[in-house]
Amino acid sequence: MNEHKIGAMYIRVSTHMQDELSPDAQQRLLADYAKQNHIIVPDEFIFIEKGISGKKADKRPEFMRMISTAKQKPTPFDVILVWKYSRFARNQEESIVYKSLLRKQCKIDVISVSEPVIDGPFGSLIERIIEWMDEYYSIRLSGEVTRGMAEKALRGGYLARPPLGYRIERKGEPPVIVPEEAEIVRLIFDKFVNESCNLLTLAQFLNLHGYKTSNGKNFERRSLEYILQNPVYYGMTRWYRTCNETNEIRDKDEWIIAKGHHEPIISKELFDAAQQRFETDFRPRGARPTTTYKHWLSGLVKCPSCGRTMIAKHLKDKRYGRDYCYFTCYGYSKGKCLAKTSVSSKVLEPEVLAAIKEAMSNQYLNFEIKQKESSKSTDEILFLRKQLDRLAVKEQRIKEAYREGIDTLTEYKENKNLLLQEQKVIQDKIDMLACSPSRRDVSEKMRERIHSVYDILLSGQFSISEKSEAIQSIVEKIIWHREEKLVEVFYYYS
Ligand SMILES: [Zn+2]
Repeated sequence: MNEHKIGAMYIRVSTHMQDELSPDAQQRLLADYAKQNHIIVPDEFIFIEKGISGKKADKRPEFMRMISTAKQKPTPFDVILVWKYSRFARNQEESIVYKSLLRKQCKIDVISVSEPVIDGPFGSLIERIIEWMDEYYSIRLSGEVTRGMAEKALRGGYLARPPLGYRIERKGEPPVIVPEEAEIVRLIFDKFVNESCNLLTLAQFLNLHGYKTSNGKNFERRSLEYILQNPVYYGMTRWYRTCNETNEIRDKDEWIIAKGHHEPIISKELFDAAQQRFETDFRPRGARPTTTYKHWLSGLVKCPSCGRTMIAKHLKDKRYGRDYCYFTCYGYSKGKCLAKTSVSSKVLEPEVLAAIKEAMSNQYLNFEIKQKESSKSTDEILFLRKQLDRLAVKEQRIKEAYREGIDTLTEYKENKNLLLQEQKVIQDKIDMLACSPSRRDVSEKMRERIHSVYDILLSGQFSISEKSEAIQSIVEKIIWHREEKLVEVFYYYS
């Protein structure tokens, strides 16, 4: 039993053909075929191209309307009837593209009522060819992508300006490595992968050392992301990452990545490791951070096993009466540290307070003296030395003034005394800046500091950030030894 199919008709008159049939004649033929083959053609699915000359005919508005109707869901008709395939399309290319599009996407067949359907081996061969052509043309059909560019991309061609590390020496040829820039690229990958450097500190590091991007700008998060995710660095070429019009980053599926002909700067392993880190370490943009609560111990607690900072996770406990947090090694949460070293602030807080209290009364307080050997103080010393030089010149001048009889001996002595005093003040300042304070001198001061910090920590009048700032002014790090239930506090004095 033959089920009725729904059909559409497409009628077009070609001006170049000798044996042309009028639109009415074409429609009559199609209607006969439909009737014989149990195909119902509703009036709204009869598409007749009216303009037969001029540029309008080239655009085939009725044809385009038919294609967009065909793409509707559910599919409105099962077949498209044409008098000849040449009416359906103007060239073989167009014919194959639209036929396979209709067949694949809409399950719609195109039937020529005057040309036989080829059965047997040739028929299936033609089907295969159509499918192969369809794949070939799918690049074109995807819209924005032009065939020439896609082909060039697939051959590993180069169009865009090369990224940091490369430069184009001859037009149309693969870019060549710029050694000093390649060094920066290697440094970036190395710090990101092997030193677990985050993007912000990495940018700061690079900018501090005066490194610049390929645009001669300072590094920032975004430029580093671009470099760390650019497959060009391990010898590939990448196309269609961004949309030309909007500069938006396209879906990764749309990118074309092909083997390039340029020399890689880094290994594929290093590149893959960087991508791995992007996937594991970075939450998608817009995701809420897991913790916003800051404990006054945040940032100070270090993992006894790997030395990484233990991250505070905020928790609520009704029985405990107030919020608390749980410190877990950052490396442990990323699978890079295997030691179980986590500790609750409920345990750690009283232990740290007890340790600080003990330190205040301890006669042999252990702490590190951090010298202020900063560039600021060396600059100051240089400035003071210049002042001394100037005083030496002044001394020479007053000596001459006395010798030449301009100044009396009393005047000379007075001037000389003033000068010596001035010299002493400056020399003392230099000595103070150049020498570190002795341990005995600062021990008492250190104890006083610890005392005032302890008071702040115990008081209810200070905010978490004030307490945090206070303890960070005397404590370098805190290590909790889980097994021994022992806390180690490392003090410093600066
Ligand atoms: Zn750890």
